[in-house]
Amino acid sequence: MGKKSPLPPWLEHAAQVKKKMKERGFKMADRVQICQGCGEYAEETWSLRGPEGLGGRDVVACMNCGRARSWRGSGQQRAVEEPFDLLGFLGISPERTEPS
Ligand SMILES: [Zn+2]
Repeated sequence: MGKKSPLPPWLEHAAQVKKKMKERGFKMADRVQICQGCGEYAEETWSLRGPEGLGGRDVVACMNCGRARSWRGSGQQRAVEEPFDLLGFLGISPERTEPS
């Protein structure tokens, strides 16, 4: 039933997450931050810069506990989405592994 993996979905699909984020134009920050959820040094930041005036999207996701947040737009209109369904956003289904 696709639930056999001992790994949480964001780890099981970590390679796919990275690939899809890059495909969408996100760039991963060089730095990894300490996650405020679990205290591990495992929080990755991805940024998408849209064309001028359209803003972009920032995604912060912890590869240890799976805590994910996302911000859209910039300046005053910046709104946070938390929790953020990273796998859903990328179209990765935890139940079904795509052939790679
Ligand atoms: Zn965490």
